[in-house]
Amino acid sequence: MTETPRNQTYDLAVIGSGFAGSLIAMIARRLGRSVVLIERSRHPRFAIGESSTPLSNLLLEELAARYRLAEIRPLAKWGSWQRTHPEIPCGLKRGFTFYHHPLDHPAPQASDPAAPTAGRTRQLLVAASPRDAIADTHWYRADFDQFFVQVAQRAEVEYYYRIELNRVSQFPGHLLLEGCCPEPEPQPGAVSPRPPRSCSFRARFVLDATGPRGFLHRALSLGEEPLPDMPPTQALFSHFTGVARLADRPPAAPSSPDTPPFPIDAAAVHHIFPGGWIWVLRFNNGVTSAGAALTAPTAARFGLSAAASTPDCQPRYAAAWNQLLAGIPALQAQFARSERTRPFTHLPCLSFRSAQIAGPRWALLPSAAGFVDPLLSTGFPLALLGIRRLAAFLAATPPGQETTPQAAARLEDYAAQTGDELLAAARLIAALYAAMDNFPVFTALTMLYFAAVSYAEAAQRLGKPELASSFLLHNHPRFGPDLRRLIAQSHNAGSPIHSARFSEEIRRAIDPINVAGLADPARRNWYPVDANDLLANAHKLHATREEAEALLTRCGFYPQSTPSL
Ligand SMILES: Cc1cc2nc3c(=O)[nH]c(=O)nc-3n(C[C@H](O)[C@H](O)[C@H](O)COP(=O)(O)OP(=O)(O)OC[C@H]3O[C@@H](n4cnc5c(N)ncnc54)[C@H](O)[C@@H]3O)c2cc1C
Repeated sequence: MTETPRNQTYDLAVIGSGFAGSLIAMIARRLGRSVVLIERSRHPRFAIGESSTPLSNLLLEELAARYRLAEIRPLAKWGSWQRTHPEIPCGLKRGFTFYHHPLDHPAPQASDPAAPTAGRTRQLLVAASPRDAIADTHWYRADFDQFFVQVAQRAEVEYYYRIELNRVSQFPGHLLLEGCCPEPEPQPGAVSPRPPRSCSFRARFVLDATGPRGFLHRALSLGEEPLPDMPPTQALFSHFTGVARLADRPPAAPSSPDTPPFPIDAAAVHHIFPGGWIWVLRFNNGVTSAGAALTAPTAARFGLSAAASTPDCQPRYAAAWNQLLAGIPALQAQFARSERTRPFTHLPCLSFRSAQIAGPRWALLPSAAGFVDPLLSTGFPLALLGIRRLAAFLAATPPGQETTPQAAARLEDYAAQTGDELLAAARLIAALYAAMDNFPVFTALTMLYFAAVSYAEAAQRLGKPELASSFLLHNHPRFGPDLRRLIAQSHNAGSPIHSARFSEEIRRAIDPINVAGLADPARRNWYPVDANDLLANAHKLHATREEAEALLTRCGFYPQSTPSL
C-alpha cells in the first residue's frame, strides 16, 4: 500500500518491517491497538541475520501461543515448518559447529575438519536438538520476513512500504512521523515519473524496528556508546550457490564414537581464526549464506577497509573474500565451485550501541538499540526477549496513558533490561574475540553461553521462568558474578597451563546450571543432546526426574512422542 492515511492517530506506529517489527505489530493488534507498520523498502528484500537457536525458537513459539498467532507458530521448528510452509526456504540447524584455523599456517587437520578423529582439539560440536523434526532453522529472511508482513496484514495491521521517513516531532498526545513516498509507477507512455509526495503518520506511541543506527536513532540524534572491550569489527557477506559440504563422505556407523553428534553441515558452521571468523549457513533451496566478521587489523590486512573507499568496490571485496578462503584450505575447497547470487555487503562498523533506548512515546527494539556480532546468534533471542517485554508494556498501558509516571517507569525498566542484556552479550563476545588465537580458552568460554541458554530453555519449558529471568543469566545471583569474573579472567588465560586451569574453573562455575553435560573433558569437544543429562540434573531446575521426563516427551524429544505444536 503506498496511499497514506489522513486524519488518523494510530495507537502504535512500528517503523521497519523485518520479522521483529511485523511481530510486535501483530501482537499489538491482538492487544486491540490500531497499528501502522511503515517500511522503507519493499518485500521480498534481502536481510542478514539468519540463524535461530533453541532459545529464539522457544521465545517465538511462546509469543505465538500467548498472542494467538497460529500462522507463526509452525515456524519455530524444522519439522512443523516443513509440513506447513515448505514454500518458505529454510536451513536445517541441528547445532553449532566450530573449527579453529591458524589462517597463516594451515595445519593438516584444519584442511580436513570433517575428519572424525583428527583435530578434536580444534573443533567443537554442540548439538541443539536430537533429531531433525524438532531442530532449529536458518531463516531465509527475504521470504520469512515477507510472510510475517503478510500475517501482520491479515491481522489488520495497516502496512505502508517504500516510505522514506525523514522527521519525527513531538505533539501533545502523539508523535508525528513525516516523510515521502513515491508516486505509483508511471504508466507506459507517460513522459517521466512524478516526484515523490510527502506523507505523514500520527501515533500515540512509536516503536523503532529499523535495525542498528536506524530511523529514530538518527532522527533524534541519540548518540552512540562503546561496547565494553569489544574490538572494532567489520563484516563482509553474501549468498552463494554451488557450495559443497564439509562432510562429503557418509558418516561412520550412527553409534560409532567417530560419528559426530549431528551432521556437521546441518548447523551454524563457524570457522574461527585469530582476528575473526567466517560463518556458513546452508538453506534448502541451494543457497548458502556465508560471510566474515573481522577485527579492524584483519580487515585491513585483507584489503577490506581500503576496498570500501574505491568507486568499484565489488571486485575488491571478492578479492578479499578469496584471499580469506585461501588461508583455510577446507573452506577454499568448499567454495571452489560457488557462485555469488548477489553483491557482497560490507559493514564497516559491525557493533553498535545506542546511547538511549526509550523516551517519551517511543522505544527502540533491541535490534535497533544495539548489535554485537553474529557469533553465538544472539540477535534473535535478544530481539524476541525485547518483544516479550514490549508486549507486556503495551498490555499494561492503555492507549492515551503512554506518558503517565507508571508507563514511564515501565519503559525505563525495558530500556535498562535491554541495555544490560546487550552488555552481557557484548562482554562474552569480546572475550571470545580475545581468545580467537587460543581455542581451548575460546571453547571454555562458549560453555558459559551454552550452559546459560540450555538452562534458560529448560526452565522456561518447565514453566519456571523465574529461574532464568535474564539473557545469559547475567543477573542470576550466583552465576551472574561468576560470568563476569571468568570473562575478566579469560583475558589472562593465555598459556596452556592457564587454559587448563581456566577450563576447570568454568566447569565448576557452570555446575549449578549445567543440565546438558557441558565442559566434560571425556566428551572431547563433541556434545550430543542426551536425555540423561537433563534427567540426572533435574534438581538444578528444582524439578523431579519425572517432571524432566514429561518435559522431554512434551517437546517431542523422543521419536515416538509428538511435539505440542
Ligand atoms: C552480519 C550479521 C549477521 C547476523 N547473524 C545473525 C544470526 O545468525 N542470528 C541472529 O540471531 N542474529 C543475527 N544477526 C542479528 C539480526 O540480523 C537481527 O537481530 C535481526 O535482523 C533483527 O531483525 P529486525 O526485524 O529487528 O531488523 P532488520 O532485519 O534489520 O529489519 C529492519 C527493517 O527496517 C527497514 N528500515 C530500515 N530503515 C528504515 C526506515 N528509515 N524507515 C522504514 N523502514 C526502515 C528495513 O528495510 C528492514 O526491512 C546478524 C546481524 C548481522 C549484521
